[in-house]
Amino acid sequence: MKTALVTGILGQDGPYLAKLLLEKNYKVYGLISRYANPNFSNLDYLGITSQIDYLQGDMTDECSLMNIIKNIRPDEVYNLAAQSFVAASWDQAKLTTEVNSLGVLYLLNAIKLFSPATKFYQASTSEMFGNSNINGEQNEATPFHPRSPYAISKLYSYWITNNFKESYGLYCCNGILFNHESPIRGKEFVTRKITDGIAKIKLGLAKEIRLGNLDSKRDWGFAGDYVRAMYLMLQQAKPDNYIISTGVSHSIRDFCAIAFNHAGLTDWEKYIVIDPQFKRPAELFSLQGKSSKAKDVLGWEPEVTFEQLIKMMVEADLSRYK
Ligand code: NDP
Ligand code: GDP
Repeated sequence: MKTALVTGILGQDGPYLAKLLLEKNYKVYGLISRYANPNFSNLDYLGITSQIDYLQGDMTDECSLMNIIKNIRPDEVYNLAAQSFVAASWDQAKLTTEVNSLGVLYLLNAIKLFSPATKFYQASTSEMFGNSNINGEQNEATPFHPRSPYAISKLYSYWITNNFKESYGLYCCNGILFNHESPIRGKEFVTRKITDGIAKIKLGLAKEIRLGNLDSKRDWGFAGDYVRAMYLMLQQAKPDNYIISTGVSHSIRDFCAIAFNHAGLTDWEKYIVIDPQFKRPAELFSLQGKSSKAKDVLGWEPEVTFEQLIKMMVEADLSRYK
């Protein structure tokens, strides 16, 4: 039986990845911090809460990570833990850096010292590109120009992951994932904020949704598709870095129009209030990834379309409030 440690197990991607690994007969360990009230609702949503072995530790506590790696020496580590919300990273830049940058260094050091055969996946992000692009798209060769403390912290982790591969011969991969969503996406992210708001409006629990910039464009995919790519990256003969995206980009406006329409609410603009507090000090105007390397080498392609994703999210939020 193969073993995997998944950090960020209580977030969005952790549960989808854990479900995939359990289906493949892995023993799955999940790292959780010390909480007064841990929130297992995302794992509950996928029905796998009782199938994970939980280990207490924190990305900012080097010793806890060393002990865990030393004790379980997993075949694979998927590092999904992060302060992952871009907007919060301006106000909490130090925390973001400690978790997203130093945390990765600690984890890699633990692997190097106690379990060098462990394969390592790092959750890198399209945010590292900023507004940089090649003919309107981003691929593995596009120069990085991070525009938030979050993106900068993730650029450090991208490079330290490459460095441990090059310096010590560890099997380390970066998945450069574009935005991916699901019914268990955090409610502060714009997609889920919209679908959650729509469900409340539809059921008479709210009258409006307050948003920032409606014109920025994102390449949105489904988290369930993207965790397959993470798994595939660790099954190759050699470690490498891959862009994971759908190749199709939409604005927040497009998302709103389709989502409201799906809930049977016409004239979506009358429900939206533009609130400057949700605008960012520096914005990424357009992300659109080219994932042809992942298709050629990993045989990976997304299955869920933009419209199907929105429908899934709207329906899940409607049934929650009902
Ligand atoms: P989430 O924010 O949903 O999950 C991140 C998890 O990390 C949370 O469960 C959080 O715990 C945990 N965490 C935060 N700080 C610590 C810490 N100090 N020690 C241990 N655990 C901690 O993110 P996603 O699942 O959406 O994303 C997974 C990864 O992929 C993240 O690294 C993200 O930055 C990256 N990524 C995500 C993209 C996306 O579109 N979703 C795109 C590209 C990259 P808690 O529940 O307590 O907050
Ligand atoms: P990000 O791409 O990781 O920052 O994911 P988000 O879902 O947080 O934001 C995607 C885009 O939506 C960004 O360009 C935001 O500026 C834009 N946006 C507009 N209004 C909002 C809002 O109210 N909340 C969030 N989170 N984003 C918003």
